[in-house]
Amino acid sequence: MTLNTVKGFLDNTEGKELAKIAKQCSKLGPCLEIGTYCGKSALIIGNVCKKNKNILFTIDHHTGSEEHQLGEEYHDSDLFDQNISCFNSLPEFLRNLRESNLANFVLPLVADSEETSKNWEIPLGMVFIDGGHSRESANADYTNWAPHIVKSGFLLIHDVFPDPKDGGRPPYEIFCKAKESGNFEEISLTRSLAVLKKI
Ligand code: SAH
Ligand code: MG
Repeated sequence: MTLNTVKGFLDNTEGKELAKIAKQCSKLGPCLEIGTYCGKSALIIGNVCKKNKNILFTIDHHTGSEEHQLGEEYHDSDLFDQNISCFNSLPEFLRNLRESNLANFVLPLVADSEETSKNWEIPLGMVFIDGGHSRESANADYTNWAPHIVKSGFLLIHDVFPDPKDGGRPPYEIFCKAKESGNFEEISLTRSLAVLKKI
């Protein structure tokens, strides 16, 4: 298995930036991702974690976001489970994880992001938000997870489009909110991958 064969929504340039930031987190604390899907970004971060003695927690209920559902723009019929009439990216993710030999470094949490955050106590070196794109989902991910990032740790947000012509608003809105909070400074914007550092 090569990363290029893993289904997902991250391009190579974004993948390189993601790996670069993950590398800086090993001394700060574990990494956490919201939005596993089939594991594309998780395996990129996991590879870095393996080299740097760190781990990644990756959260997804695996029933897909709005745009992945049957009949929607990003629906992939390979990931639709006919038996339960439901979108389900978990089998494909587990297959990719097994083939990658990263199972000791990528720890899946098959659960809702908000529910998981309620009991979370581990300080994090990096939080990567790539989950639901609704305003409610994006806001909840930012509000619930940003406080768990340690000082000098990183907040990454995918699908940040400053120009409305390029894509939906909520990820860009939480990116602005993070900067306006005074708790984060902008480090980079690589295509739609935004990197902020906790001050
Ligand atoms: N990071 C992936 C893409 C993630 S797609 C990659 O690199 O390819 C977004 C994912 O977020 C979907 O799999 C969806 O199931 C998940 N998701 C959406 N809302 C969620 C929520 N509230 N809790 C957990 N996962 C959620
Ligand atoms: Mg994305």
